[in-house]
Amino acid sequence: MTDKVLAIIPAAGIGERFQSDIPKQYEYLDGQSVIEKTIKPFLESKFISKILIAVSKSDNFIKEQNFFDNEKVEIVEGGETRAISVLNALNETNENYDYVITHDAARPNITAKDLVTIYEKITSSKSDCSFFYKPIVDSIKESKSNKTINKQDYYLVQTPQISKLNKLKSSLAYLIDQKIDVPDESFVMESQGYHVSKIEGKASNIKITYNHDLNLLRKLNSRVGSGFDLHTYKPGAGFTIGGYMLQCDYAIEAHSDGDVLLHSIADSILGAAALGDIGIFFSDKDPSNKGLDSKEIINFCLEKIHEMNLEICNVDATIICESPKISPHRNNIIDSLSEILKISKSNIGLKATTSEKIGIIGEHKAIAVQSLVNLKEIL
Ligand code: ZN
Repeated sequence: MTDKVLAIIPAAGIGERFQSDIPKQYEYLDGQSVIEKTIKPFLESKFISKILIAVSKSDNFIKEQNFFDNEKVEIVEGGETRAISVLNALNETNENYDYVITHDAARPNITAKDLVTIYEKITSSKSDCSFFYKPIVDSIKESKSNKTINKQDYYLVQTPQISKLNKLKSSLAYLIDQKIDVPDESFVMESQGYHVSKIEGKASNIKITYNHDLNLLRKLNSRVGSGFDLHTYKPGAGFTIGGYMLQCDYAIEAHSDGDVLLHSIADSILGAAALGDIGIFFSDKDPSNKGLDSKEIINFCLEKIHEMNLEICNVDATIICESPKISPHRNNIIDSLSEILKISKSNIGLKATTSEKIGIIGEHKAIAVQSLVNLKEIL
């Protein structure tokens, strides 16, 4: 790759179809903003030397983005339309670039590899412009006549797109001057008779247009958390584990009800949501937590994640004890967990193992649980 490649991200749109006070490119997605996620592969790319981001004059959000001070990034003023934003950015560049990659700010699901793929497409096909496309899978109708048309004759156009910079710049200026609507750069190049080529893109390369697009992308991201808890035994007539009363010759030493399985799962939930651990919310120094029903801890954790629009996808836990034998109670514990966690039994993994007679667990003096919880965005 010896060519000089510039990237332009038009991000001046106000997104009328997106019902929110925050422009869609600044909405939260997977621990960052949409545009931060979009820009990341461009920052990582070894062959893109500059990224121009065109934003509207009144944009107050851009300064807060994590790439704002990156030396590869330059912020330029956008225009009323996407086409004007791209042209403004092209006019800002003094250096000579061979190619320009244009990409929508609200398409955050691309990778650095996609950028290499599109670059290789334009060079190998000797085209003037290359772009990703998506075949149409749904049936389509013509909106005026309501007549079904042959979907094989059509496809959808995505970004990123790559164009020869000089040709794009002069053609775009011409079309804007002629007041011709410009949907994207491939249109500019095709309208001037330049050689355009396409390569199949990914269905996951979603353009966030409506609120539900953002929700769908959030759903694709999952969060995982791990938990561990251990309690010592004392002689007794049984203990609750996963909310199920297991009758045996032991009881649990604990400030609360000592439900080792629910404690471990609670920590997994809090961990997946990056909220800390149960000690922060339910201190064992607090007398009001004495004998606390651990179902309350789980309910608290579920409320916390619901506030974050998250829900449990699945749970996997391993009970570690020498005795009592867990397997005869396994189904009952899963039934109880399903009710407490409000998820189906098919989303609960429960295993049991021993510590091979070694250590405090091996000496029948304690029981421990290790667990994992996977959280997903609620659609
Ligand atoms: Zn505990």
